[in-house]
Amino acid sequence: RTVYVNGNYVPEDEAKVSVFDRGFLFADGIYEVASVLGGKLIDFPAHIARLHRSAGELGMRIDVTDEDLLAIHRELVSRNNVEEGVVYLQMTRGAIDRDFLFDTDKLTPTLVLFTQSRPLIDTAVAKNGMKIVSIPDLRWGRCDIKTVQLLYPSLGKMEAKARGADDAWMVRDGVVTEGTSNNAFIVTKNGAIVTRPLSHAILPGITRAALMAYSEANGTSIEEREFTIEEAKDAAEAFISSASVFVGPVISIDGVELSGGKPGPVTLGLRKTYIEESLKRAL
Ligand code: PLP
Repeated sequence: RTVYVNGNYVPEDEAKVSVFDRGFLFADGIYEVASVLGGKLIDFPAHIARLHRSAGELGMRIDVTDEDLLAIHRELVSRNNVEEGVVYLQMTRGAIDRDFLFDTDKLTPTLVLFTQSRPLIDTAVAKNGMKIVSIPDLRWGRCDIKTVQLLYPSLGKMEAKARGADDAWMVRDGVVTEGTSNNAFIVTKNGAIVTRPLSHAILPGITRAALMAYSEANGTSIEEREFTIEEAKDAAEAFISSASVFVGPVISIDGVELSGGKPGPVTLGLRKTYIEESLKRAL
């Protein structure tokens, strides 16, 4: 694979970042993952808008233009022949001698992008759904910023796997926040589609926002309110949204089966709508 590092396209085994990079030493970095379908980028403008928001919240400079970022994404997709997969972008505050204090003016941000080719539409999760377990949400208080501090979510997903499940939903103050790398939704027994409101507790998902917009346009708006893990277990259906899974059906929560242990109709309808609509807007 060819990867992008600070202005250069290089073979992946020649790509290097300093050991003094603050992304490495302090997890002082932000990222985005945009999916690729048919060689085109899905929801690209929204991902770049969120990158700017994350950088703004952390006082991090972005030295490249949005046009350049699109060009870099496209160049990597083309060089690596990505038909279906993702482009990962990571930006850190840069490399400087290790110190908790930093002077942004003395730092040049590090920018790395790479691609991963893999099927996104025809997947086992889409076909069979996923099993979820609940874990406490022990992350920091600014989960709305897409930082590379992913240790807790990574350990959470490991725990889910050890418990025979595919992913974990996190619970804080008695309500579900989100999945380890996705937003959480339920479909109630009277047909309402529910996801918790945005706050500092969750990432404002690009897929979540797109699903809300497409649903609104179809006259079935998604309700934003908090829900407990007990309400989720009692729901007709549940699903997750993320840039790389799109809409992922949930078939059980903490061992309690939902929608007869297979992907539910509302979930599958939303998945289809999302893929069709986002393809129309793909870059
Ligand atoms: N929540 C968390 C914690 C995530 O890491 C992600 C993305 O990977 C999402 C939600 C979904 O966001 P998006 O739809 O922008 O991928």
